[in-house]
Amino acid sequence: DMEVAIKVVVVGNGAVGKSSMIQRYCKGIFTKDYKKTIGVDFLERQIQVNGEDVRLMLWDTAGQEEFDAITKAYYRGENTIESFKAIPTWKEKVVTEVGDIPTVLVQNKIDLLDDSCIKNEEAEALAKKLKVRFYRASVKEDLNVSEVFKYLADKYLQK
Ligand code: GDP
Ligand code: MG
Repeated sequence: DMEVAIKVVVVGNGAVGKSSMIQRYCKGIFTKDYKKTIGVDFLERQIQVNGEDVRLMLWDTAGQEEFDAITKAYYRGENTIESFKAIPTWKEKVVTEVGDIPTVLVQNKIDLLDDSCIKNEEAEALAKKLKVRFYRASVKEDLNVSEVFKYLADKYLQK
């Protein structure tokens, strides 16, 4: 019985919570330290999908834009709008690099939703336009994190 290994790549603007999400899912921890790094290329977690053992390898990414976000003093609202605007570009990059793979759009930090300048309908409309499943999540509160990866594994195995 061969174990299935799936590579998952988390992309998005700096400070949206990519590293935190991977740490939460694979290690069960959350920290506030902005500049933390996982220190390895990826973390793994084993799950069962329809009785099948699946090993998820979660690859973290950090681009120049992250360093910009750190050095630049930013307002949360501004940063939110920027990261929202960048979503179609991220999707395009992924499609260009790896083709049409199972993809989700995650709105993280919903524990801060009072501060959000992105309306639900806006986010949902974008997901629809990009033809991806949409999740609202909070890595901090551990809301909808495992659901995201379960969905991706499921979707991948259906292909
Ligand atoms: P990355 O640059 O996308 O990897 O973002 P990080 O994982 O480094 O997270 C950036 C900051 O957002 C850190 O201070 C995290 O603690 C914080 N953060 C991540 N997820 C959440 C969340 O769900 N809620 C809140 N309130 N903060 C979060
Ligand atoms: Mg990071």
